[in-house]
Amino acid sequence: MTVNELIKKVFFIEILKGLALTLKHLFSPAVTRQYPKEKREPFPGSRGLHALVRDSETGKEKCVGCGLCAAMCPSQCINIYTSEGEDHKKIVDRYEIDVLRCVFCALCVEACPYGAVVLTDQYEYSGYTRDGFYFTKERLLNNWDKYMANSKGLEYLERFWSPKSADYGVPAVSEEEERVGT
Ligand code: SF4
Ligand code: SF4
Repeated sequence: MTVNELIKKVFFIEILKGLALTLKHLFSPAVTRQYPKEKREPFPGSRGLHALVRDSETGKEKCVGCGLCAAMCPSQCINIYTSEGEDHKKIVDRYEIDVLRCVFCALCVEACPYGAVVLTDQYEYSGYTRDGFYFTKERLLNNWDKYMANSKGLEYLERFWSPKSADYGVPAVSEEEERVGT
């Protein structure tokens, strides 16, 4: 043991340092927020309740039922049911998320090629039954209207969703390719 260490032990230097720190914080203002009376604005991009993006032109969901989000979901909590509509187009009959199983990883958002599913910054929700946390397509679209209205949703997608719809557009076919194809 060095002389320095011996002095520290004899005079309880470390203990005194600890007590001084406690004393200092005893008179500083508390940082605890009295939730729910005091609320902090959620940070942009917070991972809260899900929403299905409503297409402003059609008024329907942007989702095309490709199932990529469900395939990526580590909790397997997304269920999609589709049927075939006119011109062999897929119709999303049901899109459901069992939020109680969700880990809010946002992989579904990242996986979606069309920016059709988002996580809103809404974190205040509760319920007494499991059914209350089973979000159907209609409820998810309502979440979009409620929490991502106006430009908020579009700003979210611009900042926090990497793939852009343009990346997934139909590639232009050259005249040569068209000729070979026919
Ligand atoms: S946030 Fe993660 S766990 Fe939740 S639905 Fe999306 S992919 Fe699944
Ligand atoms: S990845 Fe997007 S478009 Fe495909 S099913 Fe999921 S939400 Fe719909």
